[in-house]
Amino acid sequence: MFISKFIETKLILGGVDGDQATGAVNVPIYQTSTYRQAGLGENTGWEYSRTGNPTRAALEALIAELEGGVAGFAFASGMAATSTVLSLFKAGDRLIISSNVYGGTFRVLDKVFKNLGIHYSIEDTTNLETLETKITPDVKAFFVESPANPLLTVTDLSAVAQIAKNHGLLTIVDNTFMTPYLQRPLELGADIVVHSATKYLGGHSNLVAGLAVTSNKELADRLAFAQNAVGAVLGPFDSFLLIQGIKTLGVRLDRHTENALRIARYLETAEAVKKVYYPGLPTAQGYEINKRQAKNGGAMISFELNGNYDVRKFFKGLKLISLAESLGGVESLVCHPATMTHASIPKEIREKVGITDGLIRLSVGIEKVDDLILDLNSGIQASLT
Ligand SMILES: *Cc1c(COP(=O)(O)O)cnc(C)c1O
Repeated sequence: MFISKFIETKLILGGVDGDQATGAVNVPIYQTSTYRQAGLGENTGWEYSRTGNPTRAALEALIAELEGGVAGFAFASGMAATSTVLSLFKAGDRLIISSNVYGGTFRVLDKVFKNLGIHYSIEDTTNLETLETKITPDVKAFFVESPANPLLTVTDLSAVAQIAKNHGLLTIVDNTFMTPYLQRPLELGADIVVHSATKYLGGHSNLVAGLAVTSNKELADRLAFAQNAVGAVLGPFDSFLLIQGIKTLGVRLDRHTENALRIARYLETAEAVKKVYYPGLPTAQGYEINKRQAKNGGAMISFELNGNYDVRKFFKGLKLISLAESLGGVESLVCHPATMTHASIPKEIREKVGITDGLIRLSVGIEKVDDLILDLNSGIQASLT
């Protein structure tokens, strides 16, 4: 159903809007595992909730519409979405992954799929020339993030998707950091988008969920089969919560990203800060590419303190911003990638890609930005050894 060409409106009215039967403005929570059948072979279109559930289906239609794909799929977590997508590959296949890919994505490839004969190579997907030379006959897909976790490195998504097409490969993009409000990889040529909806799409740090969307009908059929066969589906209540979260995505991200730009500028001038990573700063790697493919720089910032500032004391010195894993909620969170989100990546690889022990990652929330800057300043004062 055509509602509007504007994503701000689709966020609220897209997918399945409310309930036809009662006029309820929200999609009901169909908390059921099964559906009564009138006779053999006579069903309502709903048979069993692993295969399909109306609340989950409403969410799936919504994310498909937002990303501009043909079908959406909801999973119990972002990793369940990624793992189900990876289950489309077979023994002997290889994926090329971005060097700053999410730690859990690396872990599932390295510790689970590698044992099944599905291999990976870590490459710098920001370097298009060398990327093309890394394509061996067993490579079947690129798996990229842009901006990538945690150094916010920007990959040219349409260029990578074009290289993939030239070589008959799939392009899979983890769009968690941007969401379809800021960036739509399928429109740039990608085949599959995955999300940890736990982050911005949910937006309130109150659920764990994953989504996948594809632009290709054949892939949609294979994903539907894998979703049902593997079975890591999202439950009706969490599907409902996620639909609620998505309604406010636009207004939240407007504030998140406005705050982030202010904070990045503050950190850039702070004497304690050695380096700021934020794709919304004109000095950042990939600024121009990001500007072309995304609405703005998003709301994730990483920064490194100078050597005479103690990172541990910095975290202790914060009063308002919480030290926690995760990101994308309304509240600001900081984390230490080397010991938290990226601890599963061996130290040599971490150091090689720039995830140093002094690196701090900040998920900028929607609080009053002046409070956040004051708090970061307290952290910096406390960290001066
Ligand atoms: C959190 C995250 C994931 C994993 O999602 P879960 O919902 O925690 O399973 C994948 N990719 C990125 C970029 C993430 O931030």
